[in-house]
Amino acid sequence: MKAAVIHEFKGKLDIIDIPIPEIKPKDVLVKIHACGVCHTDLHACHGDWPVKPKMPLVPGHEGVGEIVSVGSEIHHLNLGDRVGIPWLYSACGQCEYCLDGRETLCLDQDNAGYSVDGSYAEYCRANGEYVVKIPDGLSYVDAAPLFCAGVTTYKALKVSEVKPGQWVAIVGAGGLGHLAIQYAIAMGMNVIAVDTGDEKLALAKELGATHCIDFMKVKPSEEIQQLVGGVHGVICTAVTQAAFGEAFKSVRRGGTCVLVGLPPEEMPIPIFDTVLGGIKVVGSIVGTRKDIQECLQFAAEGKVKAVIEEKRLDQINEILDDMIRGEITGRIVMKIS
Ligand code: NAD
Ligand code: ZN
Ligand code: ZN
Repeated sequence: MKAAVIHEFKGKLDIIDIPIPEIKPKDVLVKIHACGVCHTDLHACHGDWPVKPKMPLVPGHEGVGEIVSVGSEIHHLNLGDRVGIPWLYSACGQCEYCLDGRETLCLDQDNAGYSVDGSYAEYCRANGEYVVKIPDGLSYVDAAPLFCAGVTTYKALKVSEVKPGQWVAIVGAGGLGHLAIQYAIAMGMNVIAVDTGDEKLALAKELGATHCIDFMKVKPSEEIQQLVGGVHGVICTAVTQAAFGEAFKSVRRGGTCVLVGLPPEEMPIPIFDTVLGGIKVVGSIVGTRKDIQECLQFAAEGKVKAVIEEKRLDQINEILDDMIRGEITGRIVMKIS
């Protein structure tokens, strides 16, 4: 099968032929139709994080397709089922986190396109218990970005505990952020979007953000404090330390700062302001299988739709170069077969 494989950190991906994976009793084999390109894939290819991916690696954790082979111990899935293979490739199923519905915190998990090969390929092996079915009426291409960008921002908004009618700021209106804006509005929140460039800010406006702030032109936190007296919650999906500092300063007293983007740096937090303001700072990592089902349902009902540019697998190196330059509006989805 054709796959995009990276052999060394910061190298180029090679489009090469590798064997179709063999499945074990708890696995399914998925013929990949489409896969979104997440900024996490770029971190993986660059070896940015303290925990390194396997190498060589087939990246990709927004892969969707049809099941073409079902392991002997998987009874709830059938040939032809339309599924996605999320970042949470598998978890132990037995630890305190798995048992109480926080499976994304499991210490014994595998991650698609990171610790195991992912969906930048014509076929992908998946754990049958962790794939999620795509609702009827939602196309493969539209579904793909929801398996990471969609569920991650949907979950982060839940974690923010911002209520309908309150203000949320989305710092970084890229692949994740442009979906965060839509989920926030579908959940009844008022949105302030922060990013740069006419195209991204125009899209944020079109998607329903009340205020759109260009971080290259003004200090977003000052603007947000002036506009609404600080937001009740902020979701930071940007990939720079500076953005996290601005996100923190954008919340009002009692507000929540949700960290989602994963730059390798640290985030300095002023203790005095955090204590006196009763500010909560919390990390949020993707979402559970249940979160994915919920977030897909929003799209199936037409309340959320990723803004997508379709490309091919053999364009992956240029896609990642565009991502480094910050030149992608919405999400790139590679059509694979
Ligand atoms: P992206 O490149 O599509 O979007 C990032 C956006 O941030 C871009 O639009 C960029 O212009 C903007 N930006 C850069 N500097 C900014 C600043 N100072 N202020 C505001 N905006 C700024 O990337 P993505 O695919 O949306 O991923 C974003 C990050 O989220 C990555 O670090 C990725 O690894 C991480 N991520 C985390 C999770 C999770 O579960 N926590 C899940 C998926 C992705
Ligand atoms: Zn992702
Ligand atoms: Zn577990």
